Amino acid sequence: MTQKRLGENSKMRGKIQCFCGACSITLADHEAKCYIRCGCSDCRRFAEYTHSKGGLPPVPLPRLFYFKSDILTIKGKESIKVLKVRANGASTRLCCNRCYSVLAVDHPAHWGNVLMIMPDYCRHNCDLTRPLSAYIHMSEFDAEEDAEWEPYAPLFESFRFRRQRMQYDLLPDRIPWRDSFRPKGMRLNDLIKNLKKVEVLGFSEDRKSISDLEEQIENLNREIRSVNNQMILMREIVDKSELKKSKAQSEMISLSEKLLYYEQKFGIIKSS
Ligand SMILES: [Zn+2]
Ligand SMILES: [Zn+2]
Repeated sequence: MTQKRLGENSKMRGKIQCFCGACSITLADHEAKCYIRCGCSDCRRFAEYTHSKGGLPPVPLPRLFYFKSDILTIKGKESIKVLKVRANGASTRLCCNRCYSVLAVDHPAHWGNVLMIMPDYCRHNCDLTRPLSAYIHMSEFDAEEDAEWEPYAPLFESFRFRRQRMQYDLLPDRIPWRDSFRPKGMRLNDLIKNLKKVEVLGFSEDRKSISDLEEQIENLNREIRSVNNQMILMREIVDKSELKKSKAQSEMISLSEKLLYYEQKFGIIKSS
């Protein structure tokens, strides 16, 4: 108990600084709790944007490190820009408005408990020894596989399926993100509210690759084929059994609604 308390108190602080020295934040705990690499196009396009403003050049697969969202001090508030890539974008990024270093990133999936830093685009004294937990959004990443990839870290192409989101939430380093805690300083999402100046860059929606779109179409076709087959089966049941009739009918209604939805969204698709 005493040892634990000692450990808590002796936590080293983490300083995240921009390259020109205009702004920085200090975290109560300098130890990264989770490490992820992201292949999403927003990470890439945002880095292209900051680079065009004088920031560091984009790296192919940025490293994301997650810390307890507990900010003890903020230096150079007036130099901090708060940016979203589009109005409905999930992430909010804190940048230096002079050198365009990225200080920290907030995302609703952090439950307010966690903040993310991108060490490829800032200076810091944090402990980044955490092993890699996962690769994410890899369907948006076009480059070839390279030999330096960590072969044992799970790779998520997208979070389109609920089971992918569940598997991601169940990564051992991500489970504690939900644990609430009382910060000694300020949480990142409170700091963002406090700064009151979110600027929207207005990037267009994802530029998906052709192969990605083809895969999506193939998946949709597969689903439509399966909906059609289920409807045929339901019709047979309706014909055969009075007992199962009403259940099958309501099932058919929901299947035809699903089919209608796909047709409205993607046009009539042949189910052969
Ligand atoms: Zn700066
Ligand atoms: Zn990303």
